[in-house]
Amino acid sequence: MHKPFIKNISLAEADSWFASAGEKSYRGRQLFNWIYERNVGSFHDMTNFSKELRQRLGDEFLLAPLVLEERLVSESDETEKYLFRTEDGHYIESVLIKSEKLSGERLTLCISSQIGCGMGCSFCRTGGMGFVRNLETAEILEQLSQVRRISGLKNNNIVFMGMGEPFLNYDNVLKAADIMNYSFGFHISVRKITISTCGIGRAIERFIDEERPYNLAISLNDTESVKRRINMPVESKYPFAEILSMLEKKFPASRNRLTIEYVMRRDNISREDAKRLKKMFRNIRIKLNLIPLNPSGSGEAPGGEEIESFLNELAIMNVPVSVRMSYGGDICGACGQLAGKKLYREGAVI
Ligand code: SAH
Ligand code: SF4
Repeated sequence: MHKPFIKNISLAEADSWFASAGEKSYRGRQLFNWIYERNVGSFHDMTNFSKELRQRLGDEFLLAPLVLEERLVSESDETEKYLFRTEDGHYIESVLIKSEKLSGERLTLCISSQIGCGMGCSFCRTGGMGFVRNLETAEILEQLSQVRRISGLKNNNIVFMGMGEPFLNYDNVLKAADIMNYSFGFHISVRKITISTCGIGRAIERFIDEERPYNLAISLNDTESVKRRINMPVESKYPFAEILSMLEKKFPASRNRLTIEYVMRRDNISREDAKRLKKMFRNIRIKLNLIPLNPSGSGEAPGGEEIESFLNELAIMNVPVSVRMSYGGDICGACGQLAGKKLYREGAVI
């Protein structure tokens, strides 16, 4: 058994730990400042804490729950993939994506929420691994800490689109998002944090009922329930049509638009698919994020012309549509390609 991870604790919990150690109440905020904002890698660096206090923190807690195993930088687009090993010997990945926007460079960190994933989507390499376990809050936050420290770059966007289904690790993911947003934490705006789910109906409803302020993205990927059930087994338990009618009633108009992700395959981008999409979303404000299928699991990627004609069909929909470029293809860092070192190193075809 390892010591408890200090990044699992909330500010209130930190405060009470310091109180029980006979310390002043502002120590909790100082600790958060050291571990998140200043992002130190050792308790010894916390120079406004006495030597004894640093020693005691180190005796009781572990600061870094992940060890960097490998960092790969894409030659084609500078995407960086980080492979981390957990304390219990599993592997997870995070991807730092650099893209252009009008006001300069956009730096997005794509983080993992679980080791593996149990949802079994046919086109996704993480899905092919099966589920190992949920990541703890500290393991989620540590991806951000280490990528910032190692790259020397301060990303401005977070997407929960790495390995795993964040809404099946709801409490740990939301606690991590809160610390990312918190002013004594990483201080990232709520509008810059996006949680992507394959469609866990009850968790989506909970997220809305709890008025969580983060962006929500749902992976749709098929317009017909029968087909979606084959590619995304979650459709059997939580049919998208039911989620949509709940969202039509409850999704707050004041929020950023709901993002619908749609992985484009050769067989889901017909004129009929475009029509069904248009009909589906006539009562709710969305933006559509199209992702060309990356070679991973089953399915055939569409060609440029097919994508072009799907885009033309969608133009009548009158919603913002973006096509997500595939970043980091040469380092297996693209969407749906994350599977941890063990699997792809040993050449397992998933
Ligand atoms: N489990 C969550 C978040 C992780 S997957 C979810 O499913 O939303 C993040 C995104 O990658 C999802 O939109 C998913 O549909 C997409 N994806 C999975 N495999 C892919 C592949 N082979 N090519 C392109 N996108 C893929
Ligand atoms: Fe899991 Fe998302 Fe991959 Fe489906 S697409 S298997 S939900 S990570």
